[in-house]
Amino acid sequence: MPPASETAASALLDTPHRLEVTGLTRAFAARAVVSDVSLQVAAGQVTCLLGPSGCGKSTTLRMIAGVETPDNGRIQIDGHDVFGPSANLPPEARGVGLMFQDFALFPHLTVAGNVAFGLAGDKAAKMRRVDELLEKVNLSGFGVKHPHELSGGEQQRVALARALAPRPRVMLMDEPFSGLDNRLRDGIRDATLAVLKAEGAAVLLVTHEPEEAMRMADEIALMRDGRIVQRGAPYNVYNAPVDRAAAAFFSDIN
Ligand code: ADP
Ligand code: MG
Repeated sequence: MPPASETAASALLDTPHRLEVTGLTRAFAARAVVSDVSLQVAAGQVTCLLGPSGCGKSTTLRMIAGVETPDNGRIQIDGHDVFGPSANLPPEARGVGLMFQDFALFPHLTVAGNVAFGLAGDKAAKMRRVDELLEKVNLSGFGVKHPHELSGGEQQRVALARALAPRPRVMLMDEPFSGLDNRLRDGIRDATLAVLKAEGAAVLLVTHEPEEAMRMADEIALMRDGRIVQRGAPYNVYNAPVDRAAAAFFSDIN
């Protein structure tokens, strides 16, 4: 029988990747901002793209979302090219959900209206999905309220429900907790993670905070100057940093 570590490794290899990014590259005014970035995220898995401000995280996420065009590379979702030599699907055809620091709820719509916004189909089915999600984010009964009546944490949960409502194949999250009060952040991170896992999405979460990646990630992809310099399970990346700069980056976690 192979050792447990080998079994685990081959099980990982067998995992079908929801999101597969290969050789993604982008320059602005001849300055390389994202260089040869490759990563994979399986269904039900959270990968954190972690690195200091300005290293190219958001640009990477925006290319996967389809709102920024790569100079080179390939992006596949469920094995289909959404960007590549012969494909460039618009954002709405990629099956991705988006969540940013600025929740950008529609102020004139109710909570239920916000969550239902991206849903197609008959009204009863939409309402069922809205109710299901509001229950999952612990906001049952909030459907008739408007965003300005909610706290920041509640707005974040509505934004999460809205992004997940159409059952995106891949969730892309860019610093989704950084606008929140420090005291609430850990609780909201944990609650968000539970909802993401329950929905089974493949999640790529961008953060500049090592602590957040340690708390949420199944895998960390450490980025610096446009490149991924290390990938692995949080514990391994933390305990065996690839170089001094990586060690220093993690050093303010206590
Ligand atoms: P991060 O999200 O890691 O903080 P970004 O991907 O936002 O980094 O930005 C990486 C670098 O690319 C930064 O130096 C930023 O100024 C630059 N950049 C991002 N978008 C543009 C753009 N549209 N035009 C020119 N430079 C850009
Ligand atoms: Mg950013």
